[in-house]
Amino acid sequence: MSSIPQLEYTNKDAIPEIVDGVRAAFHSQKTKPLEWRKVQLRKLYWGLIDNADAIAQACKIDLGKGHFEANLMELDFCTNTCIYCCDNLDKWAKDESAADIQLANKLLFPKIRKDPLGCVLIIGPYNFPVNLVLAPLAGAIAAGNTVVIKPSENAPNVAAVLQKVIEDSLDQSCFRVVQGAIPETTALLEQKWDKIFYTGGATVGTIIAKKAAETLTPITLELGGRNPAIVTKNADIRLAARRLLWGKIVNAGQVCISQNYTLIDREVLDRFVSEMKLAMKEYYPNGTRHSDDFGRIINDRQWQRLKSMLDNSKGKILMGGELDQEDRYIEPTLILVDSPKDSLLIDESFGPLMPILPVNNLDEAIRIANTVHATPLGLYPFGTKAETERCLREIRSGGASVNDGFMHGSLPTLAFGGIGDSGQGAYRGQASFDCFTHRRSITTTPSWMEGMMSVRYPPYKGKLEKM
Ligand code: NAD
Repeated sequence: MSSIPQLEYTNKDAIPEIVDGVRAAFHSQKTKPLEWRKVQLRKLYWGLIDNADAIAQACKIDLGKGHFEANLMELDFCTNTCIYCCDNLDKWAKDESAADIQLANKLLFPKIRKDPLGCVLIIGPYNFPVNLVLAPLAGAIAAGNTVVIKPSENAPNVAAVLQKVIEDSLDQSCFRVVQGAIPETTALLEQKWDKIFYTGGATVGTIIAKKAAETLTPITLELGGRNPAIVTKNADIRLAARRLLWGKIVNAGQVCISQNYTLIDREVLDRFVSEMKLAMKEYYPNGTRHSDDFGRIINDRQWQRLKSMLDNSKGKILMGGELDQEDRYIEPTLILVDSPKDSLLIDESFGPLMPILPVNNLDEAIRIANTVHATPLGLYPFGTKAETERCLREIRSGGASVNDGFMHGSLPTLAFGGIGDSGQGAYRGQASFDCFTHRRSITTTPSWMEGMMSVRYPPYKGKLEKM
């Protein structure tokens, strides 16, 4: 079994030189050939496979993540992304001809070339510390960029393993890891970038957007949730309970696209609660506490935050409720709340808390969903086709899974991103390539056209009449 290296923060003073090096590597033109990019993607793939045990181990230590989850949602997600980028790179990178342009302008051979942006910074969060760093990295490599990666210091074991994977696998002149917390990230933000790709909370997202604005640096922001699930009286209640429970047990609810709260038709509330209790018993016959398949809260600060959220809520616990600070354990907890103003709805829990608010009908659910947070990252409507379509039509969100928890966010090939204050920009699938690509419009004017072109030169007198 591979061992986990010790995490060492990067010396802040070394950061400008690291960035200069990576920028110089971009200008060396090394990253331009598609074959070179594919080699890097294949090396990343094999680096992940070779370090699969260390990755799983690190995910277990940092987040209590079970082996199945770590494999499926971290490792496989990233290896599949590498393969997908490799397989599609020729198609994505090809020049696009502007076929619909006017006949006369076709003589200028108008086309769009897919240029790399340059030297980019990727800042990752702690909850899917492998996936949310390496999936954007694969897109940046595919598009021909050089990259500095800043993993989350809050998942220190994963951060250390990621550094090993990247240093052992990739071209070190083009891809570097900087480790650290706020001071190191702040030092990174002082550098000039061609793009900053950030995943994390909105507060830090705002800091990054402000800093990027000073140098007009483009950004992609993948931010937080506060996502509604809606269950109508016509929904399959057993299915809704099973699937929404899944949406909150994965990674102990530390998933940006988990439902933050559920609005349920009061007619079906009791059935939903019974079905969720049954599902809970089925998924964890001996409870979550002693199951290898249920994770832990990342650190004491986050555990305390979740406890305070529970303490401050006026809701009534219907299921779960057990907490253990020493173990950073919080049981999946279903809480009946009686107001859309309850803090459990308003704030992002980012943990296994499941507030549920009964409503009289779909009109009320839609109104509340649009009031609590106008632009959530995800939306989870359960009901008839007409009802779920209405939810999609009338509630904005970054993405949506109909009749499910966050499935749309589980596909490595489907574009993923927020809207409004849940984020800007998207990646995954071809969107990952596009995210790090400049679509450069190019025309080429043949010399023999000079006669035709001379119409544009002054003096203009009399030319308009002849056209
Ligand atoms: P985090 O604590 O891991 O921080 C994210 C990154 O920001 C880290 O690399 C950290 O070093 C850096 N950072 C922290 N403070 C900083 C500062 N003052 N200046 C510069 N950089 C700083 O993660 P987090 O932010 O607590 O993550 C949880 C949040 O992320 C939740 O709101 C969650 O919804 C969101 N999230 C969003 C997505 C998505 O894809 N939209 C995915 C995962 C998490």
